[in-house]
Amino acid sequence: MQYRLDPKSGNKLSILGFGCMRFPRNLSQIDLNKTEKLILKAIENGVNYFDTAYIYGGSEEAFGTILHKNNIRDKIFIATKLPYVKCQRYEDLDTLFHTQLERLHTDYIDYYLIHNLSDAKNWERLCEMGIKEWIAEKKDTGEIRQIGFSFHGTYDEFLSLLDAYDWDFCQIQYNYVNTHYQAGTAGLRKAAEKGIPVIIMEPLLGGKLANGLPQKAVSLFKNADVRLTPAAWAFRWLWNQKEVSVVLSGMNDDAQLNENLELADNSLPGMLTNDENKIYDAVTEAFRASYKIPCTGCNYCMPCPQNINIPACFSAYNMSYTVGFLSGIQQYITSTGSTNPNANHSPSNCIKCGKCEKHCPQHIQIRDSLNTVTKRMEPFWFKSALKLFVKLRG
Ligand code: SF4
Ligand code: SF4
Repeated sequence: MQYRLDPKSGNKLSILGFGCMRFPRNLSQIDLNKTEKLILKAIENGVNYFDTAYIYGGSEEAFGTILHKNNIRDKIFIATKLPYVKCQRYEDLDTLFHTQLERLHTDYIDYYLIHNLSDAKNWERLCEMGIKEWIAEKKDTGEIRQIGFSFHGTYDEFLSLLDAYDWDFCQIQYNYVNTHYQAGTAGLRKAAEKGIPVIIMEPLLGGKLANGLPQKAVSLFKNADVRLTPAAWAFRWLWNQKEVSVVLSGMNDDAQLNENLELADNSLPGMLTNDENKIYDAVTEAFRASYKIPCTGCNYCMPCPQNINIPACFSAYNMSYTVGFLSGIQQYITSTGSTNPNANHSPSNCIKCGKCEKHCPQHIQIRDSLNTVTKRMEPFWFKSALKLFVKLRG
């Protein structure tokens, strides 16, 4: 495992961080046995940074149970996040924080983030509530060691936030197709210039850079001299940059963990060749040409009051371009339950309430995009074809 120095704390952080949002599940429940095996193996192999959040349904509780059972709290750094949208009064800060400590079976958090703080206006609101005094108190008692924020806003807002407080670290969405999106490369470098370690989320853009690349991009990687999976290419691009501290990966099976561990053993800043950099440029071009809606499948927009499976509809729509129209239609029919007249959750049922859009970190105009999806995925023959299919099926 390679480590990079966090200049603010002196901690040596493993370049591979464990993202705890997508622990393996057994139906809707987190599979504790599988999760425990993965976590223990990651720690044995040098991973020391684990990232969870208050809102990652059951993640803090599961992770805390595993840490406690195996008595491994002190071997790792815990990063978790304050759901600041739930904070209306000063007292809420303490209530939420103590719930998190309890869930995680710990009395301190190494890296505490304000979750999805995407503009200076919200930071000002928190300051009026007294958050700076609260942070100072928690740092004095040692309950919070490092304070930071996770970010999905615009580049300008990122710069404003960097200057608004003496942050210990920050977390941004970053990968080789998002170089000019949100904080982007320029934001990463600005943070590093200020001596702020940067944690990277969405290195695979919700899995699209691993399993959702268009065929042309897959071939470009396949024909390269180095034989690596698309996911490995995405991680190497990040670790090639000295400004990157930790890359989070939501590893939920052994194969992913093994591949990432092997890569993290020997990935160093400046390792990429000119030829490899040209391949990333060509893959990015192919990706941008085929991906229409930049949904990462994070599910923050769910549930929808009309039971529309928003990320699945977007995924089917994108697939209809990257893989082929028929594959996209197949996924669309499954996601919308279109063959069942009693469970039809077509995007055409959207009542335009706008609830979903408030939560989308990718700032997708979900209502308009769902319109676009319906136009393509429900062509004039769609309903008659479905009726025929249901009739034939009996
Ligand atoms: S705007 Fe449409 S898709 Fe979004 S939450 Fe409301 S009904 Fe659901
Ligand atoms: S539409 Fe936005 S909030 Fe919903 S899953 Fe996609 S990226 Fe996440």
